[in-house]
Amino acid sequence: MMTQLAPPAIESADIRWHDGIPESRTFGDVYFNRDNGLEETRHVFIRPNELARRFARVADGAAFVIGETGFGTGLNFLAAWQEWRRANPPPCARLHFVSVERYPLRREDLHRALALWPELADLAEELVAQYPPLVRGAHRMRLDNGRVRLTLFFGDVLDAWQELEFNADAWFLDGFAPALNPSMWPDEAMQQIRRHSKREATLATFTSVGRVRRALENCGFQMHKAGGFGRKRDMLVGSLPPDPGPAPRNDVPQPKGIAIIGAGIAGCLLARNLAERGVPVTLIDAAEQPGAGASGNLQGALYVKLGVEFNAQTQLALSGLLFSQRYYASLPEPLSESLSESPSGSCWHRTGLFQMAHNEQERQRQQRFLERNQYPADIVEPVDAGAATDLTGIETEHSGLWFHNSGWLQPAALCRDLIRHPGITTLFSNPVESLARNGNQWFIATQRQTVSAAQAVICGGHHSPALIPVDSQHGHFRFKPIRGQVTHLPDHVVKAPRAVICGPRYINPTCDGVAVTGATFDLHNASPEMNEASHRENIDELHDMLPAIWLDQAPGPDQHLSGRVGFRCTTHDYQPAAGALAAVPGADLRDLFLLTGLGSKGLTYAPLLAEYLADTLTGEPACLPRSLIKRVRPERCFRPMAQEKVS
Ligand code: SAM
Repeated sequence: MMTQLAPPAIESADIRWHDGIPESRTFGDVYFNRDNGLEETRHVFIRPNELARRFARVADGAAFVIGETGFGTGLNFLAAWQEWRRANPPPCARLHFVSVERYPLRREDLHRALALWPELADLAEELVAQYPPLVRGAHRMRLDNGRVRLTLFFGDVLDAWQELEFNADAWFLDGFAPALNPSMWPDEAMQQIRRHSKREATLATFTSVGRVRRALENCGFQMHKAGGFGRKRDMLVGSLPPDPGPAPRNDVPQPKGIAIIGAGIAGCLLARNLAERGVPVTLIDAAEQPGAGASGNLQGALYVKLGVEFNAQTQLALSGLLFSQRYYASLPEPLSESLSESPSGSCWHRTGLFQMAHNEQERQRQQRFLERNQYPADIVEPVDAGAATDLTGIETEHSGLWFHNSGWLQPAALCRDLIRHPGITTLFSNPVESLARNGNQWFIATQRQTVSAAQAVICGGHHSPALIPVDSQHGHFRFKPIRGQVTHLPDHVVKAPRAVICGPRYINPTCDGVAVTGATFDLHNASPEMNEASHRENIDELHDMLPAIWLDQAPGPDQHLSGRVGFRCTTHDYQPAAGALAAVPGADLRDLFLLTGLGSKGLTYAPLLAEYLADTLTGEPACLPRSLIKRVRPERCFRPMAQEKVS
């Protein structure tokens, strides 16, 4: 019987272990051949798609894309990844694997199933560590230091192919026998597979059913039978003929070089992401060093407020949270080791985060959130005041929500570290004065020099609107700066929480003798100077929500406190802006992109949105589904001037 789950939860696979082999109770079929599942995968999918030969020919900086129907245990994925490693492609070549799963395995089952293959143990360990919680939608995993990317859609196959943007070089059609599971094999799914195929794409499937063969032929695939694996007599192999029409989007050439304006967390993450994909980047900033603006705080928390309604906004916040948790946890060792100047030794601290129900209104909001939604406990779970006290180490009388995999990081240190890459050229102390398009190039004039690039990305935080070359006659971008002052509380004043605590203010565990609290939210104050009133506001709010935080008592007005002022950039609808600017009326903004409007959630949104922009710029499968791409489109922030004023 189907269980009705509230969003965003998705029903997990109902597994029966039979002689140590997983079977689906729902479909009454095995996930892979009982005799040798790995050999079956190689016979049915890897060899017919000629992956060894094709992988070896992937150029540096290019990507090979495999689409799969039915992720199941991930065995096919690991076998493809293993083959990719064996082919030893150039360092910046990438394997993208896009798959869909309607009934995802629980992590324990995935671990148990993949433990059957000792030769895949290291790959399986990485996959299991990154495997997403069981919530609907698109999940992107960066594996093998970004050389392998997995886009895994939890949901039905037709929704996945509607929502995901990608074009595959090869397909694995693996969805239980068509007679047992017709939902995986409707003609519409075959048409979608054709639509998501590159020129000369190939496919292979274990089934030889005539209806599947005819449906694929009707879409343009040339199909033939091949010998099946083990006791199966036949299987099907197919390919698109050499020139079926215009080249799809994914055939765009690798960008030659990209200029990024703004070296905050968004710009630094994007620069690193592109450089790792083999794209040379020039990173330009007015300041002397990265993270000089809002991203320069000593500490920042990985925090989102998940909405009571599970809409696109909440989906985006959740996707950002899950991706950033995975991203920070998987930073390669040298990235944190090289932070020798940071005494704590690492940027990322997974301490957990407590979102306090600090008043009756917030308590009721959290109550409604819990009633209407169903989140796995490894994302968020309710805790009472006693549990919150135990988890944070600070006495509280408030219940709230506990985000087990969240924590805090050192954004300024992270920014510095991200840009240490041979593919990134930095131009600091270079205030950008103007951007102009001439021919096929963008010319970025700074006070010292002019930089040209085929594509440019503005990651300028609250300076972004001034950088976009749109004539104000035509309209303006609805961005606004919001001042935020944080206060540094020395460890002889506050008790050190064990986890991040969020309410009207946040407070982090201490770092180098200081706990950062804040921040103010000053809509009508443009002063970059710190002021005493903002410190008082932070302290009073913190005291109201957490009176037990002080070692003795709250610092008085006579006590000198340090801190920092930054300006968040928010949009009219408080949602981020990421994507091409081309569609803005009245200006030729082709090849100009925007990544900003992250508000106070930059640390959470930036990794996912940088990944998305890097996908877009390199023409690779998008990590965001269409519904979220629409949500973050920059043109929604543009307000055209009324027609009569233009003329
Ligand atoms: N490729 C997998 C592996 O390497 O372990 C085995 C796939 S198993 C044979 C088929 C998978 O398709 C199952 O995990 C099943 O839950 C999934 N599936 C079945 N119907 C589906 C649908 N309509 N949409 C998405 N996934 C579906």
